[in-house]
Amino acid sequence: MDFDTTLAEAWIRAIAAAVDQEQARLTELDSAIGDGDHGSNLRRGFTAALTALEGLRPDGPGAVLGKTGTTLVSKVGGASGPLYGKAFRAVGAALPEPAAPAALAEALASGLDAVRALGKAEPGDKTIVDAWTPAVAAFRHAAATGADLPAAAAAAAEAAEQGARDTVPLRARKGRASYLGERTIGHQDPGATSTALIFRALAEATAG
Ligand code: ADP
Ligand code: MG
Repeated sequence: MDFDTTLAEAWIRAIAAAVDQEQARLTELDSAIGDGDHGSNLRRGFTAALTALEGLRPDGPGAVLGKTGTTLVSKVGGASGPLYGKAFRAVGAALPEPAAPAALAEALASGLDAVRALGKAEPGDKTIVDAWTPAVAAFRHAAATGADLPAAAAAAAEAAEQGARDTVPLRARKGRASYLGERTIGHQDPGATSTALIFRALAEATAG
């Protein structure tokens, strides 16, 4: 199974559903170490992305993700809007059509590069990067060892969830949370948590 237009649309639908369902949790996490808008930011962004996709006749999965990224940049005010927006645009731009698991792994790596180019966060800074980095590594490893798309995506989701949990003891060094310094220790990062939702949604969408 390759990653095609139908799966790309299913992925965005699954993210929108997950963000909708987990909005309160994301808001709670962002209330502890930020300004409490992460859940509503992402809900607004992915709802708008779904609406934008309704009017689109995409010529491949890259177009679906590109449109999603552009919509996130324009609709989400917080730090996460431009970061996720650029990430989805980069994944879309790097995707061949249709994409085998190894090609999707490399496209997801391009998304991580885009987040890091814009946000300048290193692993361990308690950000999106702390979930996206292990997810890419797990996806790559799975694809390189012959896993199919659902299995590679499931491995990436596990790794992203572990990465998000591993942000708990970290001190935030980037974004709004960094102003709270030591007080961020003991809280899971909202952005790493939403990245885990994004990779879990990919696993669900590819599992059919
Ligand atoms: P804001 O911080 O502007 O209110 P959000 O609440 O939507 O925006 O998003 C906060 C999340 O954004 C954080 O939990 C963190 O994971 C992520 N983030 C913030 N700055 C960066 C950065 N420079 N690089 C990567 N991720 C970041
Ligand atoms: Mg916030």
